[in-house]
Amino acid sequence: MLSIRTKLTIWYLLIISLALIAFGASIYFYLSRSMLRIIDASLTDQAGLLARNYLSDQGALESEPARGHTSTARIVPQFVQYIDGNGQLVDEIKDAAGHSLPLSPDIIGSTAVRLDTLVINNEEQVRVATYPVRAATAAAPELYIRVGQSLLDLQKAQRRLLWQLAISIPLMMVIASLGGLFLANRALRPVERVAQAARRIGAGNLRERVAVPAAGDEISRLAALFNEMIDRLEQAFERERRFTADASHELRTPLAVLRGELELALRKERTGEQYREVLTASLEEIIRLSKLVDDLLTLARSERGELALDRQPLRLDELAAQLCHYIEPLAEAKGLTLEYCADEITIVGDEMRLRQLLLNLLDNAIKYTPAGGTVSLRLKRDEHVVSIEVADTGTGIPREEQALIFERFYRQQQSRTAVGFGLGLAICKWITEAHGGSLTVNSEPGRGSQFLAAFPI
Ligand code: ADP
Repeated sequence: MLSIRTKLTIWYLLIISLALIAFGASIYFYLSRSMLRIIDASLTDQAGLLARNYLSDQGALESEPARGHTSTARIVPQFVQYIDGNGQLVDEIKDAAGHSLPLSPDIIGSTAVRLDTLVINNEEQVRVATYPVRAATAAAPELYIRVGQSLLDLQKAQRRLLWQLAISIPLMMVIASLGGLFLANRALRPVERVAQAARRIGAGNLRERVAVPAAGDEISRLAALFNEMIDRLEQAFERERRFTADASHELRTPLAVLRGELELALRKERTGEQYREVLTASLEEIIRLSKLVDDLLTLARSERGELALDRQPLRLDELAAQLCHYIEPLAEAKGLTLEYCADEITIVGDEMRLRQLLLNLLDNAIKYTPAGGTVSLRLKRDEHVVSIEVADTGTGIPREEQALIFERFYRQQQSRTAVGFGLGLAICKWITEAHGGSLTVNSEPGRGSQFLAAFPI
């Protein structure tokens, strides 16, 4: 697997190379064509001049075709040939080495200026302009004037340019790949830093954070997101740690008490009455502990998503009425009034969990309301929502604690000595949310509390 750094560099090099080669090729072709055009224009010009001279010698006849002076650059032609209308050489000037232009029979009959590249001496290219000369009244040209110029210099210049390109393009490619590597390194350095920090952060070291670069770019966002993830992990770890610590603490104390009482009872012979007393007290403690273990298990499994709801259509009002009937003696024993009013409501839900929800809320209301108070349960249904409201006229909950009471093991200071473990509301919240609803509290210390579970339909 190639590293991103290598991939970036290769891509960079590839793109730069393509651009350089295209650039080099276009320069080469453009320059070659321009130089050839200059030579062509100059040769045509020279041939035109010679034609004019010839015609004026013959009696000032107009040449055909009429072409003006187009070139400003004057190249003195190396070759000049006069060929008559039958293709016979009339006169010629050879180049310095004594070479003459090869005769080309195909020029006979052409009435326009021709430009050809011929090869002499097997290797030397010569550019030749052929200029037809005819009197104004003549049907066919009577003379062809050919002027030629060796392309040796042009070929040399082209070769030099090719060499220069062949040296400078690879050189620029090397520089470009070094530059690409440098840029890739620079761009990836912050990623490397994030990776190093990530390596340092382990399960036991969630305090560390990645330094977020100030640039506000993609890397900054990545680092910030990474830190957020570690925050969440740290919170989850912390919750888990507290949960385990709280759970073991809650279990240890009652178990120690139980053990002490049983050991004390066994220390000497007791009467049957004394044994019954100890056993009854122990049984009560064991029932409480099993409830705690059940609640712990429910919460742990709900958190891992292992608790599926058994959803069935059910009459919520009938379930509530049943529960009111069940806990009424408890309320009466505490000197409380229990009020109940409900619409006829059918919802799809898990009967066992909804029963648990109602019982926990009613149990709390009774627990935290002193004698003479009222506990009420109201079920309402409107177009969009089914709501369960459990209200009491009890001790109430201070505002700053209202958000905390749904946390596991949270108990208000004053109720530390009460029988609860602080898991009831956490379970209520889970049950409500698992049914797609939300559980909220509204409370005023000294005047009472109102818990509202709302399920959107
Ligand atoms: P517990 O087993 O202690 O009742 P819960 O999770 O059911 O645990 O409740 C958490 C805390 O919220 C309780 O300790 C209590 O302080 C407070 N609380 C719950 N319900 C009421 C209520 N109806 N009135 C006043 N305080 C309440």
